[in-house]
Amino acid sequence: MSVLVFVEGLNGEIKKSSLEAASYGGQIAKQLGTTATAVAIGEVHEDALTKLGEQGINKVLYDADDRLKQFVADAYVKVIAKAAQQEDAKVLVFSNTNIGAAVGSKLAVRLSGSLATNVTALPTINGNNFVVTRGVFSGKAFADVELSSDVKIIAVKKNSIEIAHEGGSATVEKLSADLADADFAAAPKETVMQDTDGGVLLPEAEVVVSGGRGLKGPENWHLVEDLAKALGAATACSKPVSDMDWRPHHEHVGQTGITVSPNLYIAIGISGAIQHLAGVNSSKVIVVINKDPEAPFFKAADYGIVGDAFEVVPKLIEAAKAL
Ligand code: FAD
Repeated sequence: MSVLVFVEGLNGEIKKSSLEAASYGGQIAKQLGTTATAVAIGEVHEDALTKLGEQGINKVLYDADDRLKQFVADAYVKVIAKAAQQEDAKVLVFSNTNIGAAVGSKLAVRLSGSLATNVTALPTINGNNFVVTRGVFSGKAFADVELSSDVKIIAVKKNSIEIAHEGGSATVEKLSADLADADFAAAPKETVMQDTDGGVLLPEAEVVVSGGRGLKGPENWHLVEDLAKALGAATACSKPVSDMDWRPHHEHVGQTGITVSPNLYIAIGISGAIQHLAGVNSSKVIVVINKDPEAPFFKAADYGIVGDAFEVVPKLIEAAKAL
C-alpha cells in the first residue's frame, strides 16, 4: 500500500498549494513506512514533476491527455482512481482548492473512502486509529476526526503545512486512464483565468491588497492598486464593494467569494465580518488598516494600524516603492 497525492499545475509549474499537499503526503508515507506517489494531470513541465522528490514524492504518474488541460471533474476522478488502484493507495491527499474539494468528494464515493476536508495538521496514527484535525465553522474551531474506512482521503488547508525541501528527485512515468468521450460530457466550453488589476491570479497570490467600504468609492481605488503594484500583489475587495460595482465580482473574497491564502493579506477599510474572514483566515500574516480601533478585524490581525486609510496608505505606497 502507498500514499497518493494529487498535484495541480498552473502555467507548467506545480501550484504552491499542491507542493504543500505533496509535503504532507511525503510525511505520511514516512510515518507509515511506505512510498508516496503523485498523480499529475494536464500541462506540467517534466522538471517540475521530478522536483517533487524534494517534498518526499518517490514517483510521479503523469497523464498528458490534451483534453485534461482544463478541469473536468469526471475525467480527473477517473485518472486519480486509476492511479490509486495501480499504486494500491490507501491514503489520498489533495489540496483543499476548488478542484481538490470537487474531486475529493467524488473519489470518496467511488472508492468508498472517508473524506476529511480543510485538514490543518499531520494525522495521529496509532495502529488502525487514524485521526486528522480539520478547521470547522469558517476556521473558528478545530475538530479531530477519525478516518475509519480502508481508504482515507485528506484535503489539506492551504498554508497549514510547510513545504519540505529535502533533496532527491522523483521518477516520472506515463499513466493512461483510457478516457472516453463520455468522461468529458460535462466539460466546460472554455476556462478563463482572470487576473486581477495587480496582474496576479488571486487564489494563487503571495500578497493580496484588499479594500472595503471604508474606501468610500471606486474613485479612491488607486490607493489599493498603487500599493498592490508596489508590492507585486493581487487586488481584492469585500462583498459590498463588488455588489456596488466599485470592483468586479472576481475580486470579492470571503465565504461567498474567492478564498485566498497569501503570505501577506492587507485589509484596508474592511470591518472584518465573519463572512469576510472565512475567505482570508488562512493567510500567513494579516495587516489591518482601519480608523475604528474596535473593528472586529483587529482580533484576527497580526499587525494593525489604527488610522485613516487616506493618510496611512499613501505613506505605505511611498515606503513600498522605496524597497
Ligand atoms: P463595512 O462593514 O461597512 O466596514 C467598513 C470599515 O471601514 C469599517 O470597519 C470602518 O471603520 C472602516 N473605515 C471607514 N472609513 C475608513 C477610513 N477612512 N480609513 C480606514 N478605515 C475606514 N462579505 C465579504 O466581504 N465577503 C463575503 O464572501 C461575504 N459573504 C456574505 C454572505 C452572507 C450570507 C452574508 C449575510 C454576508 C456576507 N458578507 C460577505 C457581508 C459581510 O457580512 C459584511 O457586511 C461585509 O464584509 C462588510 O464589508 P466592509 O467591511 O467592506 O464594509
